[in-house]
Amino acid sequence: MGLSGGHDAVVIGSGAGGAAAAWRLCQHGLRVLLLEAGPTFDPARDYSLDSPGWERQGFPVRPGSQAIISYGDLGMLDAGTEDLASWSRAGFPWRLPAGSPRPASANGYSHVLGVGGSTLHFVGEAHRLHPDAFRQRSLTGENIDWPLGYADLEPLYGEVEGVLGVAGATTDDGRWRSTAYPLPPHPLGPGALALQAAGARLHQHWQVNPHAVLSAPWQDRPACNYCGQCSRGCPLGDKGSADVTFLRQAGDTGRLTLVSDAIVTRLHAGPDGRIARLEAIVAGRSESVETPILVLAAGAVQTPRLLLLSANSEMPGGLANASGQVGRNFMETLSWRSVGMVPGLKGSHLGLPADAICWSPAQAGGRASAFRLNHTTLETGLNGPIGYATRLVSGFGETFKSALRESFGSALAVGAIGQVIPDARSGVDLDPAQRDAQGLPVARISSVLTDQSLSLLREMAKAARAVLAEAGATLAEEASSRDAFTATHVFGTARMGADSATSVVDPVGRSHDHSNLWITDASIFPTSGGGESPSLTIMALALRAADAVAG
Ligand SMILES: Cc1cc2nc3c(=O)[nH]c(=O)nc-3n(C[C@H](O)[C@H](O)[C@H](O)COP(=O)(O)OP(=O)(O)OC[C@H]3O[C@@H](n4cnc5c(N)ncnc54)[C@H](O)[C@@H]3O)c2cc1C
Ligand code: SF4
Repeated sequence: MGLSGGHDAVVIGSGAGGAAAAWRLCQHGLRVLLLEAGPTFDPARDYSLDSPGWERQGFPVRPGSQAIISYGDLGMLDAGTEDLASWSRAGFPWRLPAGSPRPASANGYSHVLGVGGSTLHFVGEAHRLHPDAFRQRSLTGENIDWPLGYADLEPLYGEVEGVLGVAGATTDDGRWRSTAYPLPPHPLGPGALALQAAGARLHQHWQVNPHAVLSAPWQDRPACNYCGQCSRGCPLGDKGSADVTFLRQAGDTGRLTLVSDAIVTRLHAGPDGRIARLEAIVAGRSESVETPILVLAAGAVQTPRLLLLSANSEMPGGLANASGQVGRNFMETLSWRSVGMVPGLKGSHLGLPADAICWSPAQAGGRASAFRLNHTTLETGLNGPIGYATRLVSGFGETFKSALRESFGSALAVGAIGQVIPDARSGVDLDPAQRDAQGLPVARISSVLTDQSLSLLREMAKAARAVLAEAGATLAEEASSRDAFTATHVFGTARMGADSATSVVDPVGRSHDHSNLWITDASIFPTSGGGESPSLTIMALALRAADAVAG
């Protein structure tokens, strides 16, 4: 089997949605050609953390592993929101005056292109969407409902948890389960325990955060060693990124052909409306590939870009876009972070990143003010001495050294992620000026914070500050979406719905316009949920779509 034929289905993108769909299609006996734009990373070579500068190291960049992204309207820093402005006692130059355009953060949208997609640098939070999030319109009159419910996804969530090896504890937060977590929960580290104790006094329920990280050996993968570096790439393979889980198991079926460094540049619809073939640049060579069935899973930014790039004279607005919704309804990551110093706290740099979570009461009832808090000391870069020396401790010579020794392990960071309601000004389109190495327009992201988002940020800030104060912390720095666009979780640009006039794909992920085109990435989310990490839901939806393809 090769690019020229012999496959039953083509999948574009090997991240959360593409890998899960490919695995399921292979299970159903289909021969799958998976085209991935980025390179293959080798954990032993690429993720080693033994160099002296490991703290300054981000996720590795390899040739072809970063897409060029441009930014359109990201909104303005409104007067009257200065109480939400980012600040740092180290005086970082990130405080901008009201009236300035809101910039993209240092990372902006920088999801890696590579075999495994964004799961390569995710931290493995494995959340089910709250059942009420699927029925937001029905319950609150706001936003929209999903065209399916929690019960439709529940068995699939369980299957995904089994493939990834999710470690978790049974909780009472409304996400009912028909099966137990496959693995026992990870222990909470010292920072999480401090938050749990302080939160209990405020009636905040801090609990173990379920993780796609192995708490015991599972399916030939070792248990986590708590090195805490998940977003730099897991050197052990215990983190359930798509490359070591779905893709490895799909490969074992003998029915998967995975081609990396294969950038899909255009889709072609035939006269019958089906997608007949695609064009790709594979290791520098142009290829044309037939698409009997096409599963598109390039992520919520590249999926709309590819559909828009594929416009033709019959479909000048792009493929799958009779509704005009491709690229619209973009939802960024509404985030807040407060960091404080807690005298006497030791070892806050130890444990698993994001080990503890606290869901806001607004999750129940599907309210638009839903968010979550989580322990975020490690992800915020306070897991080694350089973070302290550059951000938290000042002085020179011996005084500096002893202050560093004294304070190390006593920083405590609380993160928050909240719901985003789609806005007409936010979306992904083609940049009219900027082009990539292939000469094609790059994706341009516009994303504006609404008054609703700003007031939710204020609530998130209040809850984060309250638990830190109760833990005895003195605030040292804060940062939020108010000052900079962030995008670890992005959704919505090829929304799912029952009505073809207002959505791009139907309730199982099939294009309303092209009967052999399915979309299985985060772009199909109708709503963002209240701060849940999305990969588990993306994967469950991908299994559902693949079952429908095979059916
Ligand atoms: C730092 C960080 C931490 C995160 N932490 C978590 C977490 O703890 N839990 C969680 O659930 N989520 C987390 N996320 C989010 C999560 O990783 C993403 O939401 C999820 O992976 C998105 O899945 P996807 O299938 O939509 O896209 P992706 O996983 O991004 O996959 C898209 C794939 O398509 C490929 N592609 C793009 N364009 C083309 C093209 N033209 N041709 C061929 N291939 C193409 C890309 O290279 C990529 O492999 C995190 C994200 C980041 C950045
Ligand atoms: S903490 Fe565990 S999952 Fe994360 S990188 Fe280290 S070994 Fe891997």
